[in-house]
Amino acid sequence: MRFCAAVFALALSVMPSTGHSQASSDAKKDAVTRVEKQRAELVGLSERVWELAETALNEEQSAKVLADYAEQRGFAVQRGVAGLPTAFVASYGQGRPVIAIMGEYDALPGISQKASAVKEAFQEGAGGHGCGHNLFGAASLGAAVAIKELLAAGTLKGTVRFLGTPAEESIGGKIYMIREGIFKDVDAVLVWHPGDETKVDYEGAQANLQFFVEFKGRTAHAAADPWNGRSAADAIEAFTHGLNLLREHVKPTVRIHYTVQRAGDVPNVIPDYARILTWVRDSKRAGVDDVFARVQEIARGAALVAGVEHSLTIQTGYSDTNILESGLKLLHANLTWLGEPAYTAEEQAFARELQKVTGKEEKGMVATLVPLKPIAADPPGGSTDVGDVSWVAPTLHFSVATAPKGVPWHAWPVVASSRMSIGQKGMMLAASVLAATAVDLFSDASALDGIRKEWRQKTQGVTYRWLVPDGPPKTWPSRSGHN
Ligand SMILES: [Zn+2]
Repeated sequence: MRFCAAVFALALSVMPSTGHSQASSDAKKDAVTRVEKQRAELVGLSERVWELAETALNEEQSAKVLADYAEQRGFAVQRGVAGLPTAFVASYGQGRPVIAIMGEYDALPGISQKASAVKEAFQEGAGGHGCGHNLFGAASLGAAVAIKELLAAGTLKGTVRFLGTPAEESIGGKIYMIREGIFKDVDAVLVWHPGDETKVDYEGAQANLQFFVEFKGRTAHAAADPWNGRSAADAIEAFTHGLNLLREHVKPTVRIHYTVQRAGDVPNVIPDYARILTWVRDSKRAGVDDVFARVQEIARGAALVAGVEHSLTIQTGYSDTNILESGLKLLHANLTWLGEPAYTAEEQAFARELQKVTGKEEKGMVATLVPLKPIAADPPGGSTDVGDVSWVAPTLHFSVATAPKGVPWHAWPVVASSRMSIGQKGMMLAASVLAATAVDLFSDASALDGIRKEWRQKTQGVTYRWLVPDGPPKTWPSRSGHN
């Protein structure tokens, strides 16, 4: 409730000063009120999804709790879209504009953690929300519900869609949804992401390519007749050696990482099968393509060295981000208007404890809005399938602090924070920013037109291509049951 009061105090005192009519300002305040009214429900949804901690394509229950909430709130819900059982679209309204708000809800494998500053699994061996996607989905849905209510009241006109986008951490659910044509009639897309600071996304994300290399050799007894064997594990060694030599001769923006998924079971059997999942990233798609061409040769060479066969299968590939300056300004204005959450002494102590145990500077929560900066030439390390969406529809992206500054991401401290009030305060702010920005897009035709015009200019001559294989996603279950 403290945050609720803070939001209203700010909402009344710092109205955006440029180009917004009184009607639009009133609608924005109304939207924020409608987000705040859902506080208990959104916290509840985020906690339920946190407990479920379902990984990419396994988010059956998580997708269900979110889709059920959308249905209860009056949306028409289509479940299992794009051939993905855990993807869904919740729609309300009719006609233009069509504004989509995206939510994610997949967890990461093997990082289960209690809501505590001491490293301890919530459920041994289970997944955990080390990227805060439990907050992500709930906040985005809360914003969509607020907009739906304004459409129902006749305050706004058009269509709002909540897109339940699964499997962001691998596979790339959004890419399958693009392939299905789900973004075809969308005028603009709004999306946020949990983070350790609050800022509009002027940096973007890296393009990547995720692929399996399989080696097939000939098995034999490793001591009785090793000369009859051709080891697939040898090929893995040659392949990774080649990749690690390649590292010296790529641009500093390139990232290469891999995980060996199969390489035999026991030392006294020469393995006839091995498989490695490799990711290549760079600032732009073209950079990834260059490195990938060289990696394909390394795979061929590794097979030759070991005297085995090889095959390469692309699992998915994410695009870099098409960032819109007009979108950044609009988001930044709403983030400025809403202000930052206030944290209690207890919350700051918890944040500092997490920083202390992970060897980071004990700054506590740093939620001050980062000033608007020019669009970065190279993004920081990391990728998202939001990048793909940004090439098929104008996409506005920002992050809100939900975890203490500097704590390791995709790791247990973020799992803990995502179930704590510090994470939930960020979630509520994100929902308000999404709702307020959506009101701008619905009610200010010049704002939406400006964004669409910039997007058309930036996509002119660019042919977007998805990199997912035909048919359903290509996965193999690993030993732990995760992909
Ligand atoms: Zn994430």
